[in-house]
Amino acid sequence: MTIIAHIDEHACAAHGDCVDIAPTAFALEDTAVVVGGAPYEQLLAAAQACPAVAITLVDDETGEQVFP
Ligand code: SF4
Repeated sequence: MTIIAHIDEHACAAHGDCVDIAPTAFALEDTAVVVGGAPYEQLLAAAQACPAVAITLVDDETGEQVFP
């Protein structure tokens, strides 16, 4: 299963919680941006920790949204 993260830049409050949890996947610019991948559990932890619910996780093979 390949999970792709997307960030809603309009919702992101740029405090960087996702970067702390998954630094290989996210970086902080004006908002958080996706810079790479990470294990699913780590992406899920970052998405669940986002106070703005700005991170969406999608199964790249099926297109199914797996979070939120
Ligand atoms: S945790 Fe959410 S609100 Fe915070 S920087 Fe990441 S995407 Fe933005």
